[in-house]
Amino acid sequence: MKRVLILGSTGSIGTQALDVIERSPELFEVVGLSAGRGHEQLIAQAERHGVSRIAVSDPDAAALAAEAWTAGDVLRGPDGLISLVAESQADLVLNAIVGSAGLGPTIVALTEGIDVALANKESLVVGGELVTALAEATGARLIPIDSEHTAIHHLLTGEPPGVVEKLIITASGGPFRGRKLADLNAVTVEQALNHPTWSMGGKITIDSATLMNKGLEVMEAHHLFGTPYDRIDVVVHPQSIIHALVQLCDGSTKAHLGYPDMRVAIGYALHHPDRADLPIENLDLVKLGKLEFEEPDLDAFPCLRLAREAAVAGGTAPCALNAANEIAVHAFLTGRLTFTGIPRVIDGVLEQLGTRRVHSFETLYVTDSEARRVAAELVETEVHA
Ligand code: NAD
Ligand code: MG
Repeated sequence: MKRVLILGSTGSIGTQALDVIERSPELFEVVGLSAGRGHEQLIAQAERHGVSRIAVSDPDAAALAAEAWTAGDVLRGPDGLISLVAESQADLVLNAIVGSAGLGPTIVALTEGIDVALANKESLVVGGELVTALAEATGARLIPIDSEHTAIHHLLTGEPPGVVEKLIITASGGPFRGRKLADLNAVTVEQALNHPTWSMGGKITIDSATLMNKGLEVMEAHHLFGTPYDRIDVVVHPQSIIHALVQLCDGSTKAHLGYPDMRVAIGYALHHPDRADLPIENLDLVKLGKLEFEEPDLDAFPCLRLAREAAVAGGTAPCALNAANEIAVHAFLTGRLTFTGIPRVIDGVLEQLGTRRVHSFETLYVTDSEARRVAAELVETEVHA
């Protein structure tokens, strides 16, 4: 039995992970669950999966959870989440928390030598070098849960080092594909949340609409596979059938295909190196008829350009970009910022903060909070503009 801890279990990835686990009860034991808030759903999950320890990050929600559930332990706040990981004796931590709040638990799991199935791409965007060095030092493995990166992980298995010429990750293009920047100012939250091919949590859905998600994924790929940035390409592919391709030194290109269903990526990470047996429809190429590809439009979607620039600048820049994006997306989702205000706020934060060398995780925490403060100020300026 694999002992699995699921962080962010009430979210889009978290609930699908529990669905995948439930299909193989003989293989998995769930040893803990966590959520930001929404404690009722978390308690229901704990009862269903026989879990006796849960962590709730929001202190008020944690207090309510402790009142409502006396059958097990409720660990409270960000420190409770850290204890849940450190004391779990898990074989695998599946991190499906959204945002840089996921970095701490990733660090703790890797420090304990626990393998991490990582949906929380922000862990790598913010702390890439330190996180991968930590994994190397303790021997813990990082197995991605992201359709493109799962695909690449898959495609590179069995390949000797040094044979990759290019990694190509695909982007659906989001709900606003084909529009120009001037047409994007007045788009609504509802339109932005209406993703054409994937059903996901709110933050990543907005990141997909701005193409920031692809920028974060370029960094995620760089850190996971050690590939230089000039060898990672992004191609828009509206059908989301090909998730990624790898081009090798002998002229061959391998692609990973499948209908968009995150349970494939989740099953891959949970069962690795074995295979999950999942009830997912087989690909029907004739029914699909054709697949389309186009260049991303960096003028209409400046977030991808900003992310690439921050990635190449390195140091604290990706951390600042990520924090600014989290604040801007939240402001957009709550109706305080326009869609085109998102890249403006991020750009402003990067300009004000510049980039510094990262000496330790402490540097990252300081940058994260500084960038959030500056981003919040810039959101206010946008509101009154
Ligand atoms: P979601 O919003 O649906 O769920 C997020 C989970 O994290 C919830 O359980 C929530 O309670 C918890 N959480 C939120 N804020 C927290 C905080 N401050 N501290 C602790 N826990 C907190 O998000 P999601 O769509 O499941 O995405 C999770 C991660 O997976 C993100 O990093 C996202 O980029 C990545 N991802 C998601 C998908 C997808 O299909 N949803 C695909 C690829 C990658
Ligand atoms: Mg993805």
